[in-house]
Amino acid sequence: MRAQLASVATRFVNATSRRLGRGQGTVAGGRVGLRVDPELLEHLSTGRQVVLVTGTNGKTTTTRLVTVGLGASGDAVASNETGSNMPEGHVAALAGTVAPRAVLEVDEVYLPRVLTATAAAAVVLLNLSRDQLDRTNEVRMVAGRWRAALAAAPRTHVVANADDPLVVWGAGAARDVRWVGAGLRWQRDAVGCPSCEGRIEFGEGGWACTSCAFARPVPVATLAVAPDGSATGVWSDGTVRPLALRLPGRFNLANALMAAVACEACGVEPDDALSVMATVEEVAGRFTVREFGDVRARLMLAKNPAGWEELLDLVAQGHVPLVVSINARVADGGDPSWLWDVPYERLADRTVVATGDRVRDLSVRLHYAGVAHTTEEDPVRAVARAADHAAGAVDVIGNYTAFHDLLEHSA
Ligand SMILES: [Zn+2]
Repeated sequence: MRAQLASVATRFVNATSRRLGRGQGTVAGGRVGLRVDPELLEHLSTGRQVVLVTGTNGKTTTTRLVTVGLGASGDAVASNETGSNMPEGHVAALAGTVAPRAVLEVDEVYLPRVLTATAAAAVVLLNLSRDQLDRTNEVRMVAGRWRAALAAAPRTHVVANADDPLVVWGAGAARDVRWVGAGLRWQRDAVGCPSCEGRIEFGEGGWACTSCAFARPVPVATLAVAPDGSATGVWSDGTVRPLALRLPGRFNLANALMAAVACEACGVEPDDALSVMATVEEVAGRFTVREFGDVRARLMLAKNPAGWEELLDLVAQGHVPLVVSINARVADGGDPSWLWDVPYERLADRTVVATGDRVRDLSVRLHYAGVAHTTEEDPVRAVARAADHAAGAVDVIGNYTAFHDLLEHSA
């Protein structure tokens, strides 16, 4: 009864705030629902197959891929698509639907609590890297909390990236883990062994601690990318599945492989899941081509060094001018010193325009990286200025609020 009332309250507040033009209203509605029934997430999860997706990078995209993948079963699948990835957002996503399956993006720090509340059928662990330096917990502490929570959830299937030692530590006490060889370009947050305080060494095809037995586990599926960019997932039983996506970049192929293994753990054929994932063209505006006047801009989000490391691979192949926009607002984390961890040196051959609230911090960093660039405080004018160098097409990379500002100003 109380749960029903709380669900109705959640839906009512959400509908009202949407009508008033105050955004999707998911946080507001969910907050009210949880006030009425503090165990609302438990109640809304009962009788559903729930999959949780967490990690520092790629959660929103992977959540979308698992959602469409599970949809290949013919079942309706609920998801917190607006990206509000704490319990308020989760109850809002579940309150309005009777879908028998749900895929929830979860903030890394909230995983233990949400896992307990939802009794999830599967959990997908992508990576752990530093993000929002001024307020997020230290990544090794987060890995330790995952480890304790997953050890206490013996019925949950865990799908975890075998190439991230912190993720392997976090998943390592769970009863059923399907390791995925998804790769890890950014390794600098994982050089200390979480098991013995020794040193992790990365080499061809794996990693291991130099002082104890902690080492890369054997994956059930591994990402293989050919020099021509074509990719496959190689399962340990010898099955090779083509990975063809409209989403760009190696990191999205890795996300799709993780998603396919999660779908398999939930009883959906990976071939069926992958064929639907291949149709996804954008996720929450990322990778879309938008127009700013007569300029066509490909919009990309990178909010921390790990995200940048992956995107630099993608944009280093291009030739169009690049706009980089950096803010340091609450949702970005107030400390932009992480810019010094990003290998911007690789942009030395590109035409770069720096912008955003923290254009000066960015400009200093680019200067020391040897990247010739111009600065423009206004992001929309920065896009126009970059286009002066080319025939109306540019790449744009922003961190969290910078990306969303540009998305709002585009058509
Ligand atoms: Zn060790």
